Amino acid sequence: MPYDVAIIGAGPSGSWTATLLARRGARVLLVDPSHPREKPCGGGITGRALALIRDAIPEGRLPAVRIRAARFVESKNDTYADVDLAGDSTALVVASRTEFDGALVAAAERAGASVRATRITDICRTSSGFELTTADRSHIPTRFVVGADGANSLVRRKVSRPFRRDQLSIATGYFAHGVTSDRIVIEMFADPPGYVWSFPRPHHLAIGICAQADAGVGVESLRAMVALWIQSTRIAEGGSLEPYSWPIPSLSSADFLSLDLAGPGWLTVGDAAGLVDPITREGIFFALQSAVAAADVLSSAAPDRSERYVARVRDEIASDLARAARYKDSFFKPRFTRLLVDGLQSSAKIRSVMADLVAGTQSYRGLKWRLARTAEFGLAWKLLANWSA
Ligand SMILES: Cc1cc2nc3c(=O)[nH]c(=O)nc-3n(C[C@H](O)[C@H](O)[C@H](O)COP(=O)(O)OP(=O)(O)OC[C@H]3O[C@@H](n4cnc5c(N)ncnc54)[C@H](O)[C@@H]3O)c2cc1C
Repeated sequence: MPYDVAIIGAGPSGSWTATLLARRGARVLLVDPSHPREKPCGGGITGRALALIRDAIPEGRLPAVRIRAARFVESKNDTYADVDLAGDSTALVVASRTEFDGALVAAAERAGASVRATRITDICRTSSGFELTTADRSHIPTRFVVGADGANSLVRRKVSRPFRRDQLSIATGYFAHGVTSDRIVIEMFADPPGYVWSFPRPHHLAIGICAQADAGVGVESLRAMVALWIQSTRIAEGGSLEPYSWPIPSLSSADFLSLDLAGPGWLTVGDAAGLVDPITREGIFFALQSAVAAADVLSSAAPDRSERYVARVRDEIASDLARAARYKDSFFKPRFTRLLVDGLQSSAKIRSVMADLVAGTQSYRGLKWRLARTAEFGLAWKLLANWSA
């Protein structure tokens, strides 16, 4: 058996699992045909995500834009508030996924993982683990399989079950090449509930919108909304537009509390596990955090590794994402977004709470208490009263 662990997918979750396991001496195979590639993504990487991979990508080494401000726009009344992020230099950076994911694949190779550029087309259980079939028709035996293969995960389809339509959202938009900035823009809409974003990378803007896949709005209509937004805001003037679309797991609170994450000889990490914040759609941090949990559990000799992984992800990740899912419905209601923008305009304390949410340093667990303690009693009270979770 040449490999202890075969990891399918070399996005952040797969490459980081491979790096950590290979550093601990495991024989690791990392399989992905796509690199170098740009993944459709905002590319926003929070300080907490960068902290996890600091020894593989030292501070300042990743070509990225340090975000100095976030503009929140309330679509219905066309009002906005700016939140300053410049105080914390690593609160949020935005990078091209070619650069970021490429740096993590390189870290896995440096750590000793074997990297193969091929697609896995089938996974079959054997008496000693699994056999993987590749697109070039070779067969690879492995004791353990890690599914790090994103929202359309083959591993989920073969050993567990795929996400249902109501567990996915569709993201679509444009890369605007030749334009950049140091400010993210988020304009909140009630129909479909969500927001349009512009995230500036070093050489282009990643502009997009996202809606629940069963919301009854197709990719074409969503992309038309983005095109209209780009036209009316003139945010991409002078740039050339390249369209994209991609699914994002967007689970409900009940889904997060009953995640199907692992079984005998397999586990899933990152998007393949459904670990994305259903409000902000931050997924890179949770991809890395689940990779840390997977590597810890897989390098232990414990007989109940699957159960340990599930318990750890539930406690460290899923319980807070379940809270986000409960808040989500009220978050995009016009009454709430108006109050939010009012609060951001008039209260430095509420701006500071929002800055921490964007940077990923404010969990959903303590959010209500922190808002209540801002001493902006009127504003905080109205916000909380409209936040029906
Ligand atoms: C439009 C959009 C905007 C987003 N914005 C942000 C953001 O700003 N910040 C943030 O934190 N998150 C964001 N996300 C979420 C983020 O992109 C994901 O959560 C993150 O990429 C998950 O990492 P992963 O490694 O689990 O999966 P992925 O990055 O999706 O990587 C999966 C890999 O698996 C490979 N693969 C798939 N099938 C196979 C196969 N059969 N064989 C071999 N390889 C295979 C693919 O080629 C791919 O490289 C966004 C997502 C979208 C769609």
